[in-house]
Amino acid sequence: MNSGIVYFVGAGPGDKDLLTLKGLRALREADVVVYDRLVNPVLLTETKESAKLIYCGKQPCKHTLRQEDIQKELLIHARKGKKVVRLKGGDPAVFGRVGEEAELLADNHVPYEIIPGITAGIAATMYAGVPITHREHSGSFAVVTGHTKTSDGKPDVEWKSLAEGVSTIVFYMGVKHIRTIASELISHGKYADTPVMVSQWGTYSRQQTITGTLATIANLVEGQIQNPAIIVVGEVVKLRSKLNWFDNRMLHGKGILMPTSTIEEKEEAQHLRKLGADVYEHPKLTEYSTCLDNEVFKDIEHYEEIVFYSPKAVQAFLKEVGEREMDLRTLNACFYAKDDVTKTALRNAGHLVQEWMGTHEWKRALVIGSEIELDQSFPLQATKWVIAEQRVTNGEVTALSRLLEEGHVNTLMITSEYKAQKLVAFFKLTGQSPAEWSDKLRVICRGTAASKRLAEINLMPDHVLEEESTSEEIALTLLDNDALAKGS
Ligand code: SAH
Repeated sequence: MNSGIVYFVGAGPGDKDLLTLKGLRALREADVVVYDRLVNPVLLTETKESAKLIYCGKQPCKHTLRQEDIQKELLIHARKGKKVVRLKGGDPAVFGRVGEEAELLADNHVPYEIIPGITAGIAATMYAGVPITHREHSGSFAVVTGHTKTSDGKPDVEWKSLAEGVSTIVFYMGVKHIRTIASELISHGKYADTPVMVSQWGTYSRQQTITGTLATIANLVEGQIQNPAIIVVGEVVKLRSKLNWFDNRMLHGKGILMPTSTIEEKEEAQHLRKLGADVYEHPKLTEYSTCLDNEVFKDIEHYEEIVFYSPKAVQAFLKEVGEREMDLRTLNACFYAKDDVTKTALRNAGHLVQEWMGTHEWKRALVIGSEIELDQSFPLQATKWVIAEQRVTNGEVTALSRLLEEGHVNTLMITSEYKAQKLVAFFKLTGQSPAEWSDKLRVICRGTAASKRLAEINLMPDHVLEEESTSEEIALTLLDNDALAKGS
Protein backbone atom coordinates (compact mmCIF):
# COMPACT_ATOMS: atom_id res chain seq x y z
CA MET A 1 0.00 0.00 0.00
CA ASN A 2 1.16 3.51 -0.78
CA SER A 3 2.15 4.87 2.61
CA GLY A 4 1.88 8.54 3.33
CA ILE A 5 4.03 10.49 5.68
CA VAL A 6 3.51 12.70 8.71
CA TYR A 7 5.53 15.86 9.22
CA PHE A 8 5.53 17.24 12.73
CA VAL A 9 6.07 20.93 12.17
CA GLY A 10 6.87 23.55 14.78
CA ALA A 11 4.94 26.65 13.77
CA GLY A 12 6.86 29.00 16.04
CA PRO A 13 5.38 31.05 18.86
CA GLY A 14 3.15 33.49 16.95
CA ASP A 15 4.92 35.88 14.60
CA LYS A 16 4.09 34.18 11.30
CA ASP A 17 7.58 34.73 9.94
CA LEU A 18 9.14 32.60 12.66
CA LEU A 19 8.19 29.40 10.84
CA THR A 20 11.19 27.58 9.34
CA LEU A 21 11.60 27.31 5.56
CA LYS A 22 11.46 23.56 5.89
CA GLY A 23 8.21 23.78 7.83
CA LEU A 24 6.73 26.11 5.24
CA ARG A 25 7.62 23.72 2.44
CA ALA A 26 5.92 20.82 4.25
CA LEU A 27 2.85 22.97 4.90
CA ARG A 28 2.56 23.96 1.25
CA GLU A 29 2.70 20.35 0.13
CA ALA A 30 0.36 18.89 2.76
CA ASP A 31 -2.87 17.08 1.86
CA VAL A 32 -4.03 17.18 5.48
CA VAL A 33 -3.10 19.67 8.21
CA VAL A 34 -3.90 18.90 11.84
CA TYR A 35 -3.32 22.13 13.74
CA ASP A 36 -3.36 23.40 17.31
CA ARG A 37 -4.97 26.48 18.79
CA LEU A 38 -1.70 28.32 19.41
CA VAL A 39 -0.58 28.16 15.81
CA ASN A 40 -0.86 31.51 14.04
CA PRO A 41 -3.99 30.93 11.91
CA VAL A 42 -2.63 32.88 8.97
CA LEU A 43 -0.22 30.00 8.27
CA LEU A 44 -3.23 28.01 7.06
CA THR A 45 -3.41 30.29 4.04
CA GLU A 46 -0.17 28.68 2.88
CA THR A 47 -1.89 25.34 2.33
CA LYS A 48 -3.05 23.91 -0.99
CA GLU A 49 -6.62 24.64 -1.97
CA SER A 50 -7.52 20.98 -1.68
CA ALA A 51 -5.91 20.48 1.75
CA LYS A 52 -8.11 19.17 4.53
CA LEU A 53 -7.74 21.28 7.68
CA ILE A 54 -8.43 19.70 11.05
CA TYR A 55 -8.53 21.86 14.16
CA CYS A 56 -7.53 20.34 17.50
CA GLY A 57 -8.43 23.22 19.78
CA LYS A 58 -11.86 23.99 21.14
CA GLN A 59 -14.49 23.25 18.52
CA PRO A 60 -17.51 25.55 18.06
CA CYS A 61 -19.46 23.07 20.19
CA LYS A 62 -16.75 23.69 22.82
CA HIS A 63 -15.30 20.22 22.96
CA THR A 64 -11.67 19.59 22.23
CA LEU A 65 -10.33 16.86 19.99
CA ARG A 66 -8.88 14.31 22.38
CA GLN A 67 -5.29 13.17 22.12
CA GLU A 68 -6.33 9.69 20.98
CA ASP A 69 -8.53 11.20 18.26
CA ILE A 70 -5.67 13.37 17.03
CA GLN A 71 -3.39 10.36 16.83
CA LYS A 72 -6.08 8.41 15.01
CA GLU A 73 -6.43 11.19 12.45
CA LEU A 74 -2.68 11.10 11.77
CA LEU A 75 -2.71 7.36 11.27
CA ILE A 76 -5.84 7.24 9.12
CA HIS A 77 -4.68 9.88 6.66
CA ALA A 78 -1.09 8.66 6.45
CA ARG A 79 -2.35 5.14 5.74
CA LYS A 80 -4.39 6.53 2.88
CA GLY A 81 -1.12 7.70 1.35
CA LYS A 82 -1.55 11.37 2.30
CA LYS A 83 1.07 13.90 3.27
CA VAL A 84 -0.01 14.98 6.72
CA VAL A 85 1.31 17.98 8.61
CA ARG A 86 0.85 18.01 12.35
CA LEU A 87 1.28 21.73 12.99
CA LYS A 88 2.12 22.61 16.57
CA GLY A 89 2.71 25.91 18.33
CA GLY A 90 6.35 26.72 19.11
CA ASP A 91 8.53 23.62 18.97
CA PRO A 92 6.86 20.20 18.75
CA ALA A 93 9.10 18.75 21.45
CA VAL A 94 8.66 21.44 24.07
CA PHE A 95 5.48 20.46 25.89
CA GLY A 96 4.11 19.52 22.50
CA ARG A 97 3.59 15.78 22.86
CA VAL A 98 5.55 14.98 19.74
CA GLY A 99 7.10 12.01 21.55
CA GLU A 100 3.75 10.29 22.08
CA GLU A 101 2.47 11.03 18.62
CA ALA A 102 5.64 9.96 16.81
CA GLU A 103 5.88 6.81 18.91
CA LEU A 104 2.46 5.71 17.75
CA LEU A 105 3.50 6.23 14.13
CA ALA A 106 6.73 4.30 14.71
CA ASP A 107 4.75 1.44 16.26
CA ASN A 108 2.54 1.38 13.19
CA HIS A 109 5.41 1.69 10.71
CA VAL A 110 4.19 4.99 9.34
CA PRO A 111 7.03 7.24 8.13
CA TYR A 112 7.41 10.64 9.75
CA GLU A 113 9.77 13.57 9.99
CA ILE A 114 10.09 16.15 12.74
CA ILE A 115 10.73 19.76 11.85
CA PRO A 116 11.68 21.83 14.90
CA GLY A 117 10.22 25.22 15.59
CA ILE A 118 11.12 28.21 17.73
CA THR A 119 9.80 27.68 21.19
CA ALA A 120 7.96 30.40 23.12
CA GLY A 121 10.47 30.35 25.97
CA ILE A 122 13.26 31.47 23.66
CA ALA A 123 11.34 33.76 21.32
CA ALA A 124 8.78 35.44 23.57
CA THR A 125 11.59 36.25 26.00
CA MET A 126 13.75 37.78 23.27
CA TYR A 127 10.82 39.78 21.87
CA ALA A 128 10.38 41.14 25.38
CA GLY A 129 14.04 42.17 25.48
CA VAL A 130 15.30 39.29 27.62
CA PRO A 131 18.05 37.00 26.25
CA ILE A 132 17.68 33.68 27.96
CA THR A 133 21.41 33.32 28.57
CA HIS A 134 23.94 36.04 29.22
CA ARG A 135 27.60 35.82 30.17
CA GLU A 136 27.09 37.92 33.29
CA HIS A 137 23.56 37.08 34.36
CA SER A 138 22.59 33.63 33.19
CA GLY A 139 24.77 30.58 32.60
CA SER A 140 21.89 28.10 32.46
CA PHE A 141 18.18 27.96 31.84
CA ALA A 142 15.41 25.48 32.43
CA VAL A 143 12.00 25.14 30.85
CA VAL A 144 9.41 23.90 33.27
CA THR A 145 5.74 23.11 32.95
CA GLY A 146 3.38 24.85 35.34
CA HIS A 147 0.69 22.38 34.40
CA THR A 148 0.49 19.09 36.18
CA LYS A 149 -1.51 15.95 36.50
CA THR A 150 -1.43 15.89 40.34
CA SER A 151 -4.73 15.98 42.21
CA ASP A 152 -4.32 19.53 43.59
CA GLY A 153 -3.42 20.74 40.06
CA LYS A 154 -0.32 22.49 41.38
CA PRO A 155 3.01 22.22 39.60
CA ASP A 156 4.90 19.13 40.58
CA VAL A 157 8.45 20.40 40.39
CA GLU A 158 11.84 19.75 41.96
CA TRP A 159 11.72 23.17 43.61
CA LYS A 160 14.97 22.91 45.50
CA SER A 161 17.17 21.94 42.57
CA LEU A 162 15.45 24.48 40.39
CA ALA A 163 15.80 27.33 42.89
CA GLU A 164 19.41 26.53 43.68
CA GLY A 165 20.81 25.21 40.42
CA VAL A 166 19.40 27.21 37.50
CA SER A 167 19.96 30.88 36.63
CA THR A 168 16.89 31.47 34.43
CA ILE A 169 13.68 29.49 34.80
CA VAL A 170 10.92 29.65 32.20
CA PHE A 171 7.52 28.31 33.16
CA TYR A 172 5.06 27.34 30.44
CA MET A 173 1.34 27.03 31.20
CA GLY A 174 2.00 28.47 34.63
CA VAL A 175 0.00 31.70 34.94
CA LYS A 176 -2.80 30.04 36.83
CA HIS A 177 -0.33 28.92 39.48
CA ILE A 178 1.93 31.95 39.56
CA ARG A 179 1.37 32.54 43.27
CA THR A 180 2.44 28.99 44.13
CA ILE A 181 5.40 29.17 41.76
CA ALA A 182 6.69 32.40 43.30
CA SER A 183 6.26 31.29 46.89
CA GLU A 184 7.80 27.85 46.30
CA LEU A 185 10.87 29.42 44.68
CA ILE A 186 11.26 31.84 47.57
CA SER A 187 10.89 29.15 50.20
CA HIS A 188 13.46 27.01 48.38
CA GLY A 189 16.12 29.68 48.30
CA LYS A 190 15.50 32.26 45.58
CA TYR A 191 15.61 35.86 46.83
CA ALA A 192 12.22 37.50 47.03
CA ASP A 193 13.53 40.36 44.90
CA THR A 194 14.57 38.08 42.01
CA PRO A 195 13.26 39.74 38.84
CA VAL A 196 10.30 38.05 37.12
CA MET A 197 8.60 38.71 33.81
CA VAL A 198 5.30 37.42 32.48
CA SER A 199 4.69 37.71 28.78
CA GLN A 200 1.44 36.93 27.01
CA TRP A 201 0.92 36.30 23.27
CA GLY A 202 4.66 36.71 22.83
CA THR A 203 5.97 37.70 19.36
CA TYR A 204 2.54 38.90 18.20
CA SER A 205 2.12 42.65 18.03
CA ARG A 206 -0.41 42.24 20.83
CA GLN A 207 2.33 40.86 23.13
CA GLN A 208 1.81 42.10 26.66
CA THR A 209 4.53 41.94 29.29
CA ILE A 210 4.55 42.65 33.00
CA THR A 211 7.66 42.68 35.15
CA GLY A 212 8.08 42.49 38.92
CA THR A 213 9.83 40.34 41.46
CA LEU A 214 9.04 36.99 43.03
CA ALA A 215 7.44 38.91 45.88
CA THR A 216 5.25 41.17 43.75
CA ILE A 217 4.51 39.41 40.46
CA ALA A 218 1.42 37.42 41.48
CA ASN A 219 -0.46 40.58 42.48
CA LEU A 220 0.74 42.47 39.44
CA VAL A 221 -0.52 39.95 36.90
CA GLU A 222 -3.76 39.02 38.61
CA GLY A 223 -6.64 39.66 36.23
CA GLN A 224 -4.22 41.17 33.70
CA ILE A 225 -2.73 38.17 31.94
CA GLN A 226 -4.04 34.77 30.93
CA ASN A 227 -2.60 31.96 28.88
CA PRO A 228 -0.78 31.72 26.56
CA ALA A 229 1.91 33.29 28.67
CA ILE A 230 5.32 32.37 29.95
CA ILE A 231 6.83 33.25 33.30
CA VAL A 232 10.53 34.02 33.34
CA VAL A 233 12.44 34.11 36.61
CA GLY A 234 16.03 35.33 36.87
CA GLU A 235 18.44 38.27 36.94
CA VAL A 236 18.44 38.39 33.16
CA VAL A 237 14.94 39.89 33.24
CA LYS A 238 16.55 43.16 34.32
CA LEU A 239 17.90 43.58 30.81
CA ARG A 240 14.42 44.23 29.49
CA SER A 241 14.57 47.85 30.60
CA LYS A 242 17.46 48.34 28.16
CA LEU A 243 16.87 45.76 25.43
CA ASN A 244 13.16 46.12 24.90
CA TRP A 245 13.20 46.51 21.14
CA PHE A 246 9.79 45.15 20.27
CA ASP A 247 6.85 46.37 22.25
CA ASN A 248 7.73 50.06 22.43
CA ARG A 249 7.18 50.55 18.71
CA MET A 250 4.61 53.02 17.48
CA LEU A 251 1.98 50.55 16.26
CA HIS A 252 2.42 47.96 18.99
CA GLY A 253 -0.82 46.13 19.64
CA LYS A 254 -2.24 46.60 16.15
CA GLY A 255 -3.40 43.56 14.25
CA ILE A 256 -4.41 44.70 10.80
CA LEU A 257 -6.21 42.97 7.97
CA MET A 258 -5.10 44.78 4.87
CA PRO A 259 -5.63 43.19 1.47
CA THR A 260 -2.88 44.06 -0.99
CA SER A 261 -1.94 43.21 -4.53
CA THR A 262 0.22 45.92 -6.06
CA ILE A 263 3.85 46.49 -5.14
CA GLU A 264 2.95 49.86 -3.62
CA GLU A 265 0.29 48.27 -1.41
CA LYS A 266 2.73 45.60 -0.25
CA GLU A 267 5.24 48.31 0.60
CA GLU A 268 2.59 50.10 2.64
CA ALA A 269 1.87 46.90 4.55
CA GLN A 270 5.58 46.43 5.18
CA HIS A 271 5.87 49.99 6.44
CA LEU A 272 3.16 49.40 9.04
CA ARG A 273 4.89 46.17 10.03
CA LYS A 274 8.13 48.02 10.62
CA LEU A 275 6.24 50.37 12.91
CA GLY A 276 5.20 47.39 15.02
CA ALA A 277 1.86 46.21 13.66
CA ASP A 278 0.97 42.64 12.67
CA VAL A 279 -0.24 43.10 9.13
CA TYR A 280 -2.09 40.28 7.43
CA GLU A 281 -2.43 40.90 3.70
CA HIS A 282 -5.87 39.32 3.60
CA PRO A 283 -8.61 38.60 2.63
CA LYS A 284 -7.14 37.25 -0.56
CA LEU A 285 -9.14 36.03 -3.49
CA THR A 286 -7.69 33.35 -5.73
CA GLU A 287 -8.02 34.11 -9.41
CA TYR A 288 -8.69 31.56 -12.14
CA SER A 289 -8.43 32.39 -15.83
CA THR A 290 -11.66 31.79 -17.68
CA CYS A 291 -12.18 30.67 -21.26
CA LEU A 292 -12.85 33.32 -23.82
CA ASP A 293 -16.32 33.44 -25.28
CA ASN A 294 -15.52 33.44 -28.99
CA GLU A 295 -18.47 35.66 -29.80
CA VAL A 296 -16.67 38.50 -28.04
CA PHE A 297 -13.69 38.40 -30.33
CA LYS A 298 -15.60 37.65 -33.50
CA ASP A 299 -16.92 41.20 -33.57
CA ILE A 300 -13.68 42.82 -32.55
CA GLU A 301 -13.58 45.18 -35.53
CA HIS A 302 -16.97 46.63 -34.66
CA TYR A 303 -16.14 48.02 -31.24
CA GLU A 304 -15.48 51.72 -31.00
CA GLU A 305 -13.89 51.58 -27.59
CA ILE A 306 -11.90 48.90 -25.85
CA VAL A 307 -11.59 49.46 -22.12
CA PHE A 308 -8.86 47.66 -20.19
CA TYR A 309 -9.27 47.16 -16.46
CA SER A 310 -5.82 45.90 -15.55
CA PRO A 311 -2.42 44.99 -17.01
CA LYS A 312 -3.69 41.39 -16.98
CA ALA A 313 -6.52 42.45 -19.26
CA VAL A 314 -3.96 43.97 -21.63
CA GLN A 315 -1.96 40.73 -21.60
CA ALA A 316 -5.05 38.58 -22.25
CA PHE A 317 -6.07 40.79 -25.14
CA LEU A 318 -2.62 40.83 -26.77
CA LYS A 319 -2.27 37.08 -26.35
CA GLU A 320 -5.56 36.57 -28.16
CA VAL A 321 -4.54 38.96 -30.92
CA GLY A 322 -1.23 37.13 -31.33
CA GLU A 323 -2.81 33.69 -31.43
CA ARG A 324 -5.23 34.81 -34.11
CA GLU A 325 -2.41 36.43 -36.09
CA MET A 326 -4.45 39.60 -36.23
CA ASP A 327 -3.09 42.95 -37.33
CA LEU A 328 -4.10 45.52 -34.70
CA ARG A 329 -4.01 48.28 -37.32
CA THR A 330 -7.25 46.91 -38.73
CA LEU A 331 -9.05 47.91 -35.52
CA ASN A 332 -10.91 51.19 -35.35
CA ALA A 333 -11.47 51.15 -31.61
CA CYS A 334 -9.82 53.62 -29.26
CA PHE A 335 -8.14 52.10 -26.21
CA TYR A 336 -8.97 53.22 -22.66
CA ALA A 337 -7.26 52.26 -19.41
CA LYS A 338 -8.89 52.07 -15.99
CA ASP A 339 -5.80 53.26 -14.13
CA ASP A 340 -2.22 54.35 -14.55
CA VAL A 341 -0.62 50.90 -14.37
CA THR A 342 -2.93 49.67 -17.09
CA LYS A 343 -2.18 52.78 -19.12
CA THR A 344 1.54 52.04 -18.82
CA ALA A 345 1.02 48.43 -19.87
CA LEU A 346 -0.79 49.58 -23.00
CA ARG A 347 1.77 52.24 -23.80
CA ASN A 348 4.62 49.77 -23.39
CA ALA A 349 2.93 47.59 -25.97
CA GLY A 350 2.87 50.54 -28.34
CA HIS A 351 -0.71 51.73 -28.05
CA LEU A 352 -2.11 55.17 -27.81
CA VAL A 353 -4.36 55.46 -24.77
CA GLN A 354 -7.27 57.87 -24.46
CA GLU A 355 -8.01 59.84 -21.34
CA TRP A 356 -11.02 58.42 -19.59
CA MET A 357 -13.39 61.17 -18.55
CA GLY A 358 -15.87 60.24 -15.86
CA THR A 359 -18.69 61.41 -18.11
CA HIS A 360 -17.52 59.77 -21.29
CA GLU A 361 -20.34 58.68 -23.56
CA TRP A 362 -19.57 55.17 -24.64
CA LYS A 363 -20.81 54.15 -28.07
CA ARG A 364 -19.96 50.52 -28.66
CA ALA A 365 -17.59 49.39 -25.98
CA LEU A 366 -15.81 46.19 -25.11
CA VAL A 367 -14.63 46.08 -21.50
CA ILE A 368 -11.97 43.59 -20.45
CA GLY A 369 -11.27 42.65 -16.85
CA SER A 370 -11.80 40.12 -14.08
CA GLU A 371 -15.24 39.14 -12.84
CA ILE A 372 -15.14 41.49 -9.86
CA GLU A 373 -13.92 44.43 -11.87
CA LEU A 374 -16.64 44.08 -14.46
CA ASP A 375 -19.34 43.00 -12.09
CA GLN A 376 -19.22 46.09 -9.97
CA SER A 377 -17.67 48.78 -12.04
CA PHE A 378 -19.01 49.35 -15.48
CA PRO A 379 -22.44 50.88 -15.34
CA LEU A 380 -23.22 50.98 -19.04
CA GLN A 381 -24.39 48.57 -21.67
CA ALA A 382 -21.19 47.10 -23.02
CA THR A 383 -19.84 43.79 -24.08
CA LYS A 384 -17.88 42.25 -21.25
CA TRP A 385 -14.93 39.95 -21.62
CA VAL A 386 -14.33 38.30 -18.27
CA ILE A 387 -10.72 37.13 -18.22
CA ALA A 388 -10.70 35.68 -14.70
CA GLU A 389 -13.01 34.61 -11.92
CA GLN A 390 -12.32 34.70 -8.21
CA ARG A 391 -12.77 32.16 -5.47
CA VAL A 392 -11.90 32.02 -1.79
CA THR A 393 -9.95 29.00 -0.56
CA ASN A 394 -10.85 26.96 2.47
CA GLY A 395 -7.54 27.93 4.11
CA GLU A 396 -8.38 31.60 3.66
CA VAL A 397 -11.83 31.29 5.23
CA THR A 398 -10.56 29.21 8.14
CA ALA A 399 -7.61 31.49 8.80
CA LEU A 400 -9.72 34.64 8.81
CA SER A 401 -12.37 33.19 11.10
CA ARG A 402 -9.72 32.12 13.57
CA LEU A 403 -7.79 35.41 13.41
CA LEU A 404 -11.01 37.18 14.35
CA GLU A 405 -12.06 34.66 16.95
CA GLU A 406 -8.70 34.69 18.73
CA GLY A 407 -8.55 38.47 18.70
CA HIS A 408 -5.35 38.65 16.64
CA VAL A 409 -6.79 41.44 14.50
CA ASN A 410 -8.47 44.66 15.54
CA THR A 411 -8.37 46.78 12.38
CA LEU A 412 -9.50 46.42 8.78
CA MET A 413 -7.64 48.67 6.38
CA ILE A 414 -8.96 49.12 2.85
CA THR A 415 -6.62 51.26 0.80
CA SER A 416 -8.47 51.63 -2.51
CA GLU A 417 -11.82 51.25 -4.19
CA TYR A 418 -10.60 48.09 -5.89
CA LYS A 419 -9.70 46.54 -2.54
CA ALA A 420 -13.17 47.46 -1.30
CA GLN A 421 -14.67 45.72 -4.33
CA LYS A 422 -12.63 42.65 -3.55
CA LEU A 423 -13.84 42.69 0.02
CA VAL A 424 -17.44 42.94 -1.15
CA ALA A 425 -16.78 39.95 -3.40
CA PHE A 426 -15.20 38.08 -0.47
CA PHE A 427 -18.38 38.46 1.59
CA LYS A 428 -20.51 37.46 -1.38
CA LEU A 429 -18.44 34.37 -2.11
CA THR A 430 -18.13 33.17 1.49
CA GLY A 431 -21.47 34.21 2.92
CA GLN A 432 -19.66 35.71 5.93
CA SER A 433 -21.31 38.57 7.74
CA PRO A 434 -19.84 42.07 7.42
CA ALA A 435 -21.64 42.97 10.65
CA GLU A 436 -19.58 40.43 12.57
CA TRP A 437 -16.44 41.99 11.19
CA SER A 438 -17.42 45.52 12.03
CA ASP A 439 -18.26 44.44 15.59
CA LYS A 440 -14.70 43.24 16.05
CA LEU A 441 -12.69 45.52 13.81
CA ARG A 442 -12.10 49.22 13.45
CA VAL A 443 -12.67 49.88 9.78
CA ILE A 444 -10.46 52.43 8.03
CA CYS A 445 -10.52 53.10 4.32
CA ARG A 446 -8.83 55.43 1.88
CA GLY A 447 -11.01 57.53 -0.38
CA THR A 448 -14.73 58.13 -0.56
CA ALA A 449 -15.15 55.70 -3.49
CA ALA A 450 -13.88 52.86 -1.27
CA SER A 451 -16.07 54.04 1.55
CA LYS A 452 -19.17 53.96 -0.69
CA ARG A 453 -18.40 50.41 -1.77
CA LEU A 454 -18.13 49.31 1.86
CA ALA A 455 -21.35 51.08 2.75
CA GLU A 456 -23.12 48.95 0.09
CA ILE A 457 -22.64 45.95 2.38
CA ASN A 458 -23.28 47.98 5.55
CA LEU A 459 -19.65 48.03 6.54
CA MET A 460 -19.45 51.63 7.71
CA PRO A 461 -15.88 52.89 7.94
CA ASP A 462 -14.91 54.40 11.29
CA HIS A 463 -12.48 56.61 9.47
CA VAL A 464 -12.13 57.65 5.82
CA LEU A 465 -8.67 58.83 4.78
CA GLU A 466 -8.00 61.28 1.97
CA GLU A 467 -7.55 59.66 -1.43
CA GLU A 468 -3.92 60.78 -1.57
CA SER A 469 -2.92 59.85 1.98
CA THR A 470 0.44 58.16 2.52
CA SER A 471 1.37 55.21 4.70
CA GLU A 472 2.69 57.71 7.29
CA GLU A 473 -0.79 59.19 7.46
CA ILE A 474 -2.32 55.74 7.73
CA ALA A 475 -0.05 55.03 10.69
CA LEU A 476 -1.04 58.28 12.37
CA THR A 477 -4.69 57.50 11.83
CA LEU A 478 -4.23 54.18 13.55
CA LEU A 479 -2.90 56.09 16.55
CA ASP A 480 -5.57 58.76 16.33
CA ASN A 481 -8.22 56.12 16.41
CA ASP A 482 -6.72 54.87 19.60
CA ALA A 483 -7.04 58.28 21.10
CA LEU A 484 -10.63 58.50 19.93
CA ALA A 485 -11.43 55.07 21.30
CA LYS A 486 -9.89 55.92 24.64
CA GLY A 487 -11.60 59.26 24.77
CA SER A 488 -15.00 57.81 24.05
N1 SAH B 1 5.27 23.73 22.04
C1 SAH B 1 5.03 25.05 22.53
C2 SAH B 1 4.49 25.06 23.93
C3 SAH B 1 3.14 24.41 24.07
S1 SAH B 1 2.52 24.45 25.70
C4 SAH B 1 6.33 25.86 22.42
O1 SAH B 1 7.37 25.29 22.14
O2 SAH B 1 6.28 27.08 22.59
C5 SAH B 1 1.57 25.94 25.65
C6 SAH B 1 2.21 27.00 26.49
O3 SAH B 1 3.29 27.58 25.78
C7 SAH B 1 1.31 28.18 26.80
O4 SAH B 1 0.46 27.92 27.89
C8 SAH B 1 2.33 29.24 27.15
O5 SAH B 1 2.86 29.04 28.43
C9 SAH B 1 3.42 28.94 26.15
N2 SAH B 1 3.26 29.75 24.93
C10 SAH B 1 3.00 29.31 23.69
N3 SAH B 1 2.96 30.33 22.83
C11 SAH B 1 3.19 31.45 23.54
C12 SAH B 1 3.32 32.82 23.22
N4 SAH B 1 3.16 33.26 21.97
N5 SAH B 1 3.60 33.68 24.21
C13 SAH B 1 3.78 33.26 25.47
N6 SAH B 1 3.67 31.98 25.83
C14 SAH B 1 3.40 31.07 24.88
